[in-house]
Amino acid sequence: MREKKTKYDIIIIGSGLGGLVCGYILSREGFRVCILEKNHQPGGNLQTFTRDGHVFDTGLHYIGSMSPGQTLYTFFNYFGIADKLRLRKLDEDGYDVISFGNDPTNYKHAQGYDKFVETLHSLFPSQHPGLKDYTDKLQQTIRAIPLYNLKHASDYILDPGVLNQCAMGFIRSLSDLPRLHHVLAGANSMYHSAVNRTPLYLHACIRNSYINSAWRPVDSSDQIAGLLIENIRIQGGEVFTDSEVKKIGIEDNAVNRVELCNGEIIKADKIISDVHPAVTLKMIDTDKLRKAYIARISKLENTPGFFTLYLIMKDNTFPYLNYNYFHYRSDDYFNDQLDITTWPDTFLLYTPAVSGQGQFTKTVSILSFIPYKDFRRWENLPPDQRGEDYEEYKEKMSNRLLDLVEERFPGIRQKIVRYYVSTPLTFKDHTATKEGSAYGILKDCENPVRSIILPATKVKGLYLTGQNLNIHGILGTTINAVITASEIIGFRYLINKILDAQ
Ligand SMILES: Cc1cc2nc3c(=O)[nH]c(=O)nc-3n(C[C@H](O)[C@H](O)[C@H](O)COP(=O)(O)OP(=O)(O)OC[C@H]3O[C@@H](n4cnc5c(N)ncnc54)[C@H](O)[C@@H]3O)c2cc1C
Repeated sequence: MREKKTKYDIIIIGSGLGGLVCGYILSREGFRVCILEKNHQPGGNLQTFTRDGHVFDTGLHYIGSMSPGQTLYTFFNYFGIADKLRLRKLDEDGYDVISFGNDPTNYKHAQGYDKFVETLHSLFPSQHPGLKDYTDKLQQTIRAIPLYNLKHASDYILDPGVLNQCAMGFIRSLSDLPRLHHVLAGANSMYHSAVNRTPLYLHACIRNSYINSAWRPVDSSDQIAGLLIENIRIQGGEVFTDSEVKKIGIEDNAVNRVELCNGEIIKADKIISDVHPAVTLKMIDTDKLRKAYIARISKLENTPGFFTLYLIMKDNTFPYLNYNYFHYRSDDYFNDQLDITTWPDTFLLYTPAVSGQGQFTKTVSILSFIPYKDFRRWENLPPDQRGEDYEEYKEKMSNRLLDLVEERFPGIRQKIVRYYVSTPLTFKDHTATKEGSAYGILKDCENPVRSIILPATKVKGLYLTGQNLNIHGILGTTINAVITASEIIGFRYLINKILDAQ
């Protein structure tokens, strides 16, 4: 087993996508980089787990813009992993399929802007101008986001004129048909229970990424982490698992070391944390930071986490679907008036891609956002001490979720061999994300500046990265990590290198 050195140029806390991308870029630049991961398995949300011989992804079901020349491809190409990933393109005619209540129509989001408009135009014949305005505005908004527009980006700061535009207000202005509003707002490109506060830039980044092209990982999402780690090691960087950081040491307002839970001390002049900012601050003695900064970061609202069912299916009973299926119990979902008594209000069902894919799937994953407040009673207990009432709660909620799924997939219960459950507490345990939040700190178009997290902190040598900075998701987290690394090596210098690799 490799031993850790006592000093590195840069220590990165957390091997989620944000930490790995920073690690790749900075080790390529010749820095001696050490990534410390608390779990046995690296990757954070890219981790997988195996039950009864079947691999399940935990925090990634599809990625966008992975055709050559597109945004994520350009970054992944620079990291040397784009052409090594095993991906399957989702249905071009409908990569996301959306349904509502008893309405039998399946509304489809197609790939390619023209096809996207055409497909929805056939269902909303009078709405061509609104649909065209929608796609034009998405593309215009994207152009205002520096790292979507690499050739001309001079820095990474988002235009303040973009930050305070709200997605839902814009969508409502396009048409007077609520169903069209909800078709455009559906498919997880808006925050659950904060649809009206979701910024347009965030919605546009996510939607644009998938309209460009939508892909599912084949066999497992941890291939992204595996390939990045391989390349980091080739460049001389080091990645250690089972290495939980307890404390970030600061002297004279500059970082100088980390202390691990096992007592090891490792020195570095630069430390990047890929851990949720509020959790990162807990690793620092409170007298080393301004009280106002701690208070602001700790009080920021987080997006809800997921309740997930991982189903193992009887052979040849449930078809492989080459799209994601989103269902909303009613249009009320988009008014943010959600209550745990009506849960679940929505679900996302998908069938993972495997090599040698047949007509049927062996597994199905079903996700539904769930408020955190019900989980507070168990949050300070270790996983094995949450007791019978936690198990009963999971069972009750699993049945409620399956009841809603039965409305769109009648008979699915009879096709299940067994299922496994994860809750926001599972994510809190595994990735240390605050409140098991799926997408981290909520960005609010009504109060935009408050929730933006900058990569450089007031402590010399301490940087933040990961999904909490600007935009969540695989593309958003990649962009955030490029921004963090650029604080150390220079923005235009790094962007030019990424462009030159094309
Ligand atoms: C259920 C779910 C489904 C999703 N689906 C998609 C999708 O289909 N497409 C998409 O684009 N995005 C998706 N996302 C979002 C995407 O997964 C995330 O935005 C992204 O992976 C976040 O990466 P990160 O590096 O910021 O954080 P994380 O992946 O949370 O990584 C943080 C890492 O830090 C480690 N860590 C924490 N504390 C310590 C410590 N003290 N010491 C050492 N290490 C520590 C954790 O163990 C973890 O490995 C999904 C998210 C969830 C939760």
